[in-house]
Amino acid sequence: MMIIKNVRILGGEPVSIRIADGVIAEVAPGMDAPEAIDGAGAIALPGLVDLHTHLREPGREDAETVRTGTQSAARGGYTAVHAMANTSPVADTAGVVEQVWRLGREHALCDVHPVGAVTVGLEGRQLAELGAMADSAARVRVFSDDGKCVDDAVLMRRALEYVKAFDGVVAQHAQEPRLTSGAQMNEGVVSGRLGLAGWPAVAEEAIIARDCLLAAHVGSRLHVCHVSTAGSVEIIRWAKSKGWNVTAEVTPHHLLLTDDLVEESPVGAYNPIYKVNPPLRTRADVEALRAALADGTIDIVATDHAPHPVEDKETEWSAAALGMVGLETALSVVQEAMVETGLLDWAGVAQRMSALPARIGRLPGQGRPLEAGEPANIMLYDPTARTEVDPSAFASKSRNTPYEGMTLPGRVVATFLRGRPTVLEGKLV
Ligand SMILES: [Zn+2]
Repeated sequence: MMIIKNVRILGGEPVSIRIADGVIAEVAPGMDAPEAIDGAGAIALPGLVDLHTHLREPGREDAETVRTGTQSAARGGYTAVHAMANTSPVADTAGVVEQVWRLGREHALCDVHPVGAVTVGLEGRQLAELGAMADSAARVRVFSDDGKCVDDAVLMRRALEYVKAFDGVVAQHAQEPRLTSGAQMNEGVVSGRLGLAGWPAVAEEAIIARDCLLAAHVGSRLHVCHVSTAGSVEIIRWAKSKGWNVTAEVTPHHLLLTDDLVEESPVGAYNPIYKVNPPLRTRADVEALRAALADGTIDIVATDHAPHPVEDKETEWSAAALGMVGLETALSVVQEAMVETGLLDWAGVAQRMSALPARIGRLPGQGRPLEAGEPANIMLYDPTARTEVDPSAFASKSRNTPYEGMTLPGRVVATFLRGRPTVLEGKLV
């Protein structure tokens, strides 16, 4: 038995939460015990759920492992992550997804749900064994070639048809490859000035439009990864207005950062810390993404946590790896972009960072309201704190954050996975 006292669920009035056997036994004001954990007025949210994490194991344990990646997740308030399939070997068989699932059971600080590849080796030529991954111990429900786009329309259609049998979803990395061949950053005014090959918005939007039509045609579930343009938002809004089963995510960095940073930033010009796929876009795109997340056109925030070792990132722009770490700063960035701007309250944040990602990933024990009888997956957050981002303090093995030195609002105080603390007073347990 354990009591967490003096916490404000979704920012409401202070209450105590009594936990027994990993389950919330009671929520009521005033409960106390000598060994109670004092939340000191922190906000309590259901443990966050990430639909899009790169844990890098197996294959790139120099960048991240299941252990360090989930430590990073716990530090960010997460109690479940979906581990993307672009590992080495690729998670395209029951054997590999079970390996990742087992690593999660043995070493993780949060639940790890492997994502299965859509095509063998992420090569876009032949469907992977989706059914075997769904039936495996890992119970895969989310399938993605993330990092690469399933650009063959016939394969995409067949994948959408196949996953219907087990209520799965295809999560598409929408990037028409020929339109982005050699692209280095968002195509626009800044890329023109810098003379870097542009990455046009239409390369993303064309695939999203095609996939929405395919999902409607076969009556299946489509999820759009890391939406980054205002035009993509318009297409998803249209698809939803038709009643089609389309969901979408946005990353914290696409809610805050713009492509101007490639030209001029606190860390100088051409700093590959800002190199990411999809690229940072314009201020108008950021405003459209914020509005879409607020009005539900974009369903969720997903981190696209993409750890890279220093040698892959601190090199010249054209050679640098694409991606940013994000688990430990996600909620602070969302507070900055969405809460401080009045676009979302804490209930809205909980919906978009916990309840809906759990629903899209079909995780019955995650994203639940903080009520009696529900699993005790809880995170405590102090929104009044102000923290200067210090990458050397990250639990992640990698340090490639674009927020180094920035002061962001909020601080994760504690995280509980089925009643077991994984983080207390901001530190790993
Ligand atoms: Zn991607």
